[in-house]
Amino acid sequence: MADIKKLIAGFKRFQENYFGGDQELFGQLKQGQSPSAMVIACSDSRVDPALLMDCEPGDQFVVRNVGSLVPPYETGGGLHGVSTALEFGVCVLGVQHLIVLGHSHCGGIETLMHGIPKGTQSEFIVNWVNIAQRARERVVDEMPDASAEQQSCACEQAAVLVSLENLLTFPWIKQRVQQGELILHGWYFDIDSGAMLAYDSIQGRYEPLL
Ligand SMILES: [Zn+2]
Repeated sequence: MADIKKLIAGFKRFQENYFGGDQELFGQLKQGQSPSAMVIACSDSRVDPALLMDCEPGDQFVVRNVGSLVPPYETGGGLHGVSTALEFGVCVLGVQHLIVLGHSHCGGIETLMHGIPKGTQSEFIVNWVNIAQRARERVVDEMPDASAEQQSCACEQAAVLVSLENLLTFPWIKQRVQQGELILHGWYFDIDSGAMLAYDSIQGRYEPLL
């Protein structure tokens, strides 16, 4: 019960900070939002993109899921939460930056690499993380003798690249990228060191963001 009290107290502070006194931010935001960036992040409790980038309400349009994964473009089948968020962010809000934010010690990618934890049932997780199966195959091909931890780390970074590839299967994303209206970014947050890495597509490797 203490946990929910912490959340309620947090909301009280939020209300005081953003709606108390002469705060004007929500005075503007209630007219509408125009974030310049959209972030595809993991549901992991340790990697809140707004906290990591010290953002205020209105700064980022965000979709979070297990593994920070973007499925390929396809219109049939079931309900498409990530694709809907992408359409809203890109086509309705017109964001100029799309950031795929991976991270270390990702439980979703760990499941992709090494299977669901023993004793756990999965109706959805395994099928979902298989979006990044190409990343797993690349890692197993390129570093078959690496430790499980090294393979998971490499797969976390490779999965970001798979999501970037999948973003370009959406015709309205590809078109905007080609016209220079939209820039894709692949970032990776290292929980151990606190560093953020950014994928450099020219060098073909991750480099420190700072
Ligand atoms: Zn994760």
